[in-house]
Amino acid sequence: MSRSVLVTGGNRGIGLAIARELAAAGDAVAVTYRSGEPPEGLFGVRCDVTSAEDVDTAFGKVEAEQGPVEVLVANAGVTRDTLLAIMSEEDFTSVLDTNLTGAFRVAKRASKQMMRKRRGRIVLVSSVVGMMGSAGQANYAASKAGMVGFARSLARELGSRNITVNVVAPGFVDTDMTAALGEDRHEVIKSLIPLGRIAAPEEVARAVRFLAGDDASYITGAVIPVDGGLGMGH
Ligand code: NDP
Repeated sequence: MSRSVLVTGGNRGIGLAIARELAAAGDAVAVTYRSGEPPEGLFGVRCDVTSAEDVDTAFGKVEAEQGPVEVLVANAGVTRDTLLAIMSEEDFTSVLDTNLTGAFRVAKRASKQMMRKRRGRIVLVSSVVGMMGSAGQANYAASKAGMVGFARSLARELGSRNITVNVVAPGFVDTDMTAALGEDRHEVIKSLIPLGRIAAPEEVARAVRFLAGDDASYITGAVIPVDGGLGMGH
């Protein structure tokens, strides 16, 4: 059965892989994008998740095109890495505003229709560093750890309405975000990963497809690592 799906930040990287995976599985998939053109073959809505107004407008367009959102994937995210001593308040709050408050804005908007329909799936894209911490990423790690408490609270609030809320925690994935780290850092990172390599975005997308699908009907409040073993035990 085709469902109405919305993936934030679905114009590139992990979000695009998730959108393509769900579209291939037969869902009607919309993605948000901030600039440029939406990806070919997917319904694109312009939206900056730091604006509640943008989020509301984007949901309105998606609802008109493909019906109320039944599967929400909160994937949009940014980094602004620097050491605590020189991290500005803006560095901190802007990352929280996109990654954590952005997830709040879209989940809140999506939950209204999901509660009415008594059905829904919410998947939040967090990160292994939310659990492990990461020097130079206090803002990012805090935002990603916050997503876990947020998701688990929603899982408790919305479970009786047949809405599941889960988290995927990727390790290092081959996207623009990690390309910025450079080849030397890549080699160090790979040496820490039991599987010895960085993930392809599609490997994260498949976990999201599972959580969004019927096979995950009794899973809620879970954090699924897709990290090659990097965060084992967390
Ligand atoms: P990219 O940098 O490749 O893509 C980020 C996406 O988020 C883009 O689509 C971008 O849109 C969107 N985005 C950023 N800020 C906003 C905003 N304010 N409003 C709307 N959209 C926004 O990152 P990845 O694909 O690597 O990451 C996707 C998610 O996965 C993020 O949440 C990230 O934290 C998480 N993650 C990534 C890992 C990795 O190794 N790559 C590891 C663990 C987690 P635009 O194109 O308009 O900028």
